[in-house]
Amino acid sequence: MTKLKGLKCRECGRRYPSSPVHICEFCFGPVEVDYDYDALKGVITRQSIAAGPPSIWRYRELLPIEGDVAVGHHVGFTPLIRSQNLAEELGVRELWIKNDSVCHPTWSFKDRVVAVAVTRAKEFGFDTIACASTGNLANSVAAHAAEARLKSYIFIPADLEQGKIVATLVYQPTLVAVEGTYDEVNRLCSEVSDKYRWAFVNINIRPYYSEGSKTYGYEILEQLGWRAPGHIVVPCAGGSLITKIWKAIREFASLGLIERPATRMYAAQAAGCGPIVTMVKNDTDVLTPVRPNTIAKSLAIGNPADGYYAYRVVKDSGGYGEHATDEEIVEGMLLLARTEGIFTETAGGVTVAVTKKLIETGVIPRDESIVICITGNGLKTPDVLYERLDTHVTIRPLLSAFDRALAELKSQARS
Ligand SMILES: *Cc1c(COP(=O)(O)O)cnc(C)c1O
Ligand SMILES: [Zn+2]
Repeated sequence: MTKLKGLKCRECGRRYPSSPVHICEFCFGPVEVDYDYDALKGVITRQSIAAGPPSIWRYRELLPIEGDVAVGHHVGFTPLIRSQNLAEELGVRELWIKNDSVCHPTWSFKDRVVAVAVTRAKEFGFDTIACASTGNLANSVAAHAAEARLKSYIFIPADLEQGKIVATLVYQPTLVAVEGTYDEVNRLCSEVSDKYRWAFVNINIRPYYSEGSKTYGYEILEQLGWRAPGHIVVPCAGGSLITKIWKAIREFASLGLIERPATRMYAAQAAGCGPIVTMVKNDTDVLTPVRPNTIAKSLAIGNPADGYYAYRVVKDSGGYGEHATDEEIVEGMLLLARTEGIFTETAGGVTVAVTKKLIETGVIPRDESIVICITGNGLKTPDVLYERLDTHVTIRPLLSAFDRALAELKSQARS
């Protein structure tokens, strides 16, 4: 089926054939994948989707690939969990957790974008995959390049968490640690991608890559029983995920798969790197780049590529945004773990902390449906918890020693 119409500039509307380009030659606006929605109407139904595989590929008619799925057959279709305990603690009626901390194979939502990007890059005939990463993308590109038997070059800021570095190196890519911020890594990668004919998933392949994020939105809608929630809280780095969840909602509505949606979108960022949320709070569409200083390294992009569009989604949907301090991020991680038994990374801590603030300040009402986006796994960023958490007691292997310790613990708990 020829559903792909090629690429279209988001600003001037100029069309381009499907190719590895990401910027309009005429106005320098970003280009986006365009589909023949009329041809898809009535062809994509709730039944046809439900009959597909339990992965992102159940939505493949709405993804920018033409041939067979090359890699990542098992990516996505992660749990959407109805929260009881956290909902009670936050004092809200209907709270759902979209849990990509267990996305296959590298435990973050980045597997969705990379599976699509690498499949498309293979279709374009590239033999080398590359990326500029804040961590999770590095893990996922290295894993999928290994699966695809392609060479990979991964560029990261040199001060990345150990967990994210090991979880990249294990797949044996070429890892380039750059002494600089993510934004400096990204600028370097733009130059590298001009010079070498490599598929940089988030630079020259970005239009295809970012479409993969739509599947996170589709799954929320399908798993809610083909309806859109009232509110979605999304952690933002480059600002792609939040714009693509919004696109997913509009696509499903225009294809008649869900009722008229009235979803408000909320941006969650760290106080130490929150340029998109700052735009929302200051009510300006001009982004002021920042130099990141936060423990939420996966969100530490000071000059986000889709910052303007993320801002627009928040405004157009009637949503809002909030910042979380490093202390609040750790509290958010601990709150989700204690109430729901889910260990998320710092980005998830940002989402939980921001959701709490938005509810407490009355921005998100307590009696409407809320979905929070948990996008990464805590085992990759345990460092931030080491000094906060400790074993309670260390004993010799004797029952009498345990009896004494238990009495001591109980008296501590009473005092
Ligand atoms: C990359 C990332 C995000 C944000 O993604 P953008 O599309 O760049 O805004 C959110 N959460 C985690 C865990 C990530 O790795
Ligand atoms: Zn243009």
